[in-house]
Amino acid sequence: ALRGARPVGRGLSTRASDILTSLGISSTAEVSGVYDGKWGGSGELMQSICPTTGEVLARVKTATPQELHEALEKTREAYVFFRNIPAPRRGELLRQIREALGAKREELGALVSLEMGKIKTEGVGEVQEFVDICDYAVGLSRMMNGRVVASERPGHSILEVPNPLGVVAVLSAFNFPVAVYGWNLALSMAAGNATIWKPSPTTPLCSIAVTKIVSGVLERNGIPGAVAGLVTGGKDVGSAVVESKDVDLVSFTGSEHVGRIVGKTVMSRFGKVILELGGNNASVIMPDADLSLAVPAVFFGAVGTAGQRCTSTRRLYLHRQIADEFMGRLKKLYASVVPGDPLDSATLLGPMHTKDAVGVYHNAIKHLKEIDAEIVTGGKNYDQSPLDAGNFVQPTIAIPKSVNPTDQIWSTETFAPILNTAVFDDLEEAIGWNNAVPQGLSSSIWTRDLRNVGKWIGPSGSDAGIVNVNVGTSGAEIGAAFGGNKSTGWGRESGGDAWKEYVRWSACTINFSDAAPLAQGVSFAT
Ligand code: NAD
Repeated sequence: ALRGARPVGRGLSTRASDILTSLGISSTAEVSGVYDGKWGGSGELMQSICPTTGEVLARVKTATPQELHEALEKTREAYVFFRNIPAPRRGELLRQIREALGAKREELGALVSLEMGKIKTEGVGEVQEFVDICDYAVGLSRMMNGRVVASERPGHSILEVPNPLGVVAVLSAFNFPVAVYGWNLALSMAAGNATIWKPSPTTPLCSIAVTKIVSGVLERNGIPGAVAGLVTGGKDVGSAVVESKDVDLVSFTGSEHVGRIVGKTVMSRFGKVILELGGNNASVIMPDADLSLAVPAVFFGAVGTAGQRCTSTRRLYLHRQIADEFMGRLKKLYASVVPGDPLDSATLLGPMHTKDAVGVYHNAIKHLKEIDAEIVTGGKNYDQSPLDAGNFVQPTIAIPKSVNPTDQIWSTETFAPILNTAVFDDLEEAIGWNNAVPQGLSSSIWTRDLRNVGKWIGPSGSDAGIVNVNVGTSGAEIGAAFGGNKSTGWGRESGGDAWKEYVRWSACTINFSDAAPLAQGVSFAT
């Protein structure tokens, strides 16, 4: 039973109100969902619903078109101010934001669990990811170097210069309601931009709590709050942000379907866009794999976050020699899963995020049955949910009859805990299946044979953006650039060279000689 949880309409449970109050959200009847230096919002009221209990956590006041327009103007003004603050000073602000987030790590992690539904350790992990990327960006703020290029002309130098880009809009998905914004804000601020956030309409409270923490730091330092503004709302607010010529870079994380619209819209006005879209990630298990590591990793990849990570394991390719053994062990782990309150530290499986997500799960199960797939385990709701109004479904393993990866069952991302499996005979076949889908986010091989590793990470290997060896598909550290290829959108965020997308580059040729020669020896003498 869920401590302190109550059905909808009977006031906020103590469990929820304690978490919200600890983050400065005490009155939940109408919470301001717009921040541009001042809190406001007079648009439609949007409900935040707890996926575990079904209770309405708060009603949030979203942005009207006029308020969005004003917020964008404030963001532009904030950029004009902020671009002249030296980068290491911007880094110092990020250091303070990191401290402020760290001080609320537990509370904010609990809010992620409460509002999104992922288990507490993952909720806290998201806040830690924001802290980590702030650390990274503090360092970056002293290392965002340009280059000096050798000129072919005497007395000339060429510089490649990074400057702040402008207004960056971050549109984020429900499943990482804190970390995705963190990746973007940290790099965008270090680069000298002003950032405006349009979060998922189903996780507004996480965005409000984060914005309160970040704006507290900005305001204490006399920096305009619109350096890190917020506009909550649904699809209309999202499309207005994407269409706005006042936005220089749109960083979008979400589904392929919406990403396709966003990508085309931004390109049609020649804006910059980063797309982080759906994944359809496979694990390949070779006969020499250490199954004591591989089985739990696949279990976490497929069942963790109730299958709602972009990097969740959705396809499992087992070598014939170990297929039965692997499946036997995996089934035992699935049988041990007990759904529960994500805020309870013993829980491994929380709810799906929304009722719609439960519908997506059931549609996929229905389709699997229609095509005569074997449902090895799962395939339905729990007979006894921890709380009847919660969105709990059974993690599912299926063996579709066809292993043709272009079939819908293999080729689309179903954002639910469903793992489709197939048996292969040689690595080339498994790599072929791995690569045959439209998406290209994460992939993983389990082997102890160096020759397999070489093939897997080489030119004829996995074509995903994340190509792991003896590490599951799910989860990543902030140090490397994160993102996927093909219909996952080709975007890169977080570490590596991702910061280079958040600046505008100029090639500056400087002539310090007494002549003005043309390049390539071109002569234009009169
Ligand atoms: P979604 O596409 O439904 O929504 C994402 C955002 O787009 C939300 O803020 C939404 O309000 C906004 N939006 C909706 N319609 C819009 C429009 N026409 N114009 C502009 N904005 C619009 O995605 P979701 O269901 O919240 O998230 C799940 C998806 O996100 C999955 O496909 C998952 O794989 C993907 N995801 C990808 C990554 C990654 O890094 N590749 C990370 C997390 C999630």
